[in-house]
Amino acid sequence: MIMEERIKQLNEKNAMESRPFVVYWMQSSQRAEYNHALEYAIRQANRLEKPLVVYFGITDGFPEANERHYAFMLEGLKETKNALEQRGIQLLIRKISPEKGALEMTESAAQLVVDRGYLRIERQWRAALAEDAECAVVQVESNVIVPVELASPKEEYSAATLRSKLKKVLPDCLAPLEETICKHPSIDLELPYEAYDILDVAASLDGLDIDRSVLRVSDYIGGTGEAKQWLEEFIENKLAGYSERKNRPGESFTSNLSPYLHFGQISPLYVYRRLMGMDSESQQSFLEELVVRRELAVNFVYYNEQYDSYAAVPDWAKKTLDKHLADERGYLYLLEELEAAKTHDDYWNAAQLEMNLTGKMHGYMRMYWAKKILEWSSTPEEAYRKAIYLNNKYLLDGRDPNGFAGVSWCFGKHDRPWGERAIFGNVRFMNDKGLKRKFDMQLYMDQVAER
Ligand code: FAD
Repeated sequence: MIMEERIKQLNEKNAMESRPFVVYWMQSSQRAEYNHALEYAIRQANRLEKPLVVYFGITDGFPEANERHYAFMLEGLKETKNALEQRGIQLLIRKISPEKGALEMTESAAQLVVDRGYLRIERQWRAALAEDAECAVVQVESNVIVPVELASPKEEYSAATLRSKLKKVLPDCLAPLEETICKHPSIDLELPYEAYDILDVAASLDGLDIDRSVLRVSDYIGGTGEAKQWLEEFIENKLAGYSERKNRPGESFTSNLSPYLHFGQISPLYVYRRLMGMDSESQQSFLEELVVRRELAVNFVYYNEQYDSYAAVPDWAKKTLDKHLADERGYLYLLEELEAAKTHDDYWNAAQLEMNLTGKMHGYMRMYWAKKILEWSSTPEEAYRKAIYLNNKYLLDGRDPNGFAGVSWCFGKHDRPWGERAIFGNVRFMNDKGLKRKFDMQLYMDQVAER
């Protein structure tokens, strides 16, 4: 059973039973396992006695995406295509704007199933498709553990307010997802659309007209198999030390799952279930991040239309930052100087370099990094824009609800007022002395320098 709160029909059309197949438009859940949208689509196809075709549209123009992001995505899609074929299902990849391709697919589809995305563009695509499609369009939510509207009907104030709501419904959302066998294979189905070949990732990257200013990285390879390996390595070697050591920048005690979660290459429910029964402080601490913090970010972008601008920062924070607008800034940096990691602050430079070179930045350093951009910019609006720009350009997990929530947190979102200081007012402050006192920062800088 897939809980009904995960399923939502987006239009009032019926299934068109004379049509030859059912389509699953894969967009945000780019995986062949533990994917509620996929399993739902298989069950619908079986019920209608039809094959299921999975469709994925690659656009050159996804906002802020560059070669680094596309390479990771294509690596994952290649594996997903093979895994679907093992299940008798064809993955048709087309080079087309995803929602346009999906609309064309609905001309021959009995029904279209789509997974759920929370960012503006993902929601607009689905809404436009539901309106224009002739057949039923059904959305199935699989990239969160608790469906966003079930978790809360409104924007939450903080992790504490969401945590208590999640606690009540979480047990209902943890059911395992059984795989259904596809009754009518679609692998050999001839489709009247040109497929985009991704079996050679480098060649398919070359065929895309994309921003090539940020290069592919080898530290993280896309794909469900890679994600599961990171997870197993985490459980085996890091989980026990997670709560004590996750914040230490020079040590690697986190899961590194964020790029995989971002592209939907691994299911958060699968990750949660893998850790069930391991009752420890570290397990609790990890699940707090995976469930409460991550789903608070989803709650934020879903209910706050201004999630990607400084306007989403709470009024108390804007007021206090405004009050300190005229405070003298010791340093002001141009975007180019930040991007090139050329500031006076070695810790900050190391964090920026880590992001530039590996496509990821240690979680604790992300807070310090964004706080310093606030301190070194003439206005908080300008700082916000620079932080989002760099975050989304270089991080493999960028352009994600977590990124918008994480940057906004550094400006006071989901946080509370602290003691007043220059520039920050009552917004929480961080400094290099704190880093030096708490951590072996030389270790962190040496690691980045070795890259
Ligand atoms: P782990 O510690 O292993 O955590 C497991 C999972 O829990 C993560 O993969 C992530 O999905 C979730 N998680 C962990 N910490 C947080 C958090 N603070 N908020 C929400 N979810 C969390 N995360 C992104 O995925 N994309 C971003 O673009 C992003 N930008 C950030 C920018 C700033 C300024 C800040 C302060 C945080 C940002 N984060 C972002 C959140 C967090 O830093 C990363 O999710 C985490 O560092 C990813 O590493 P991991 O998978 O090894 O984490």
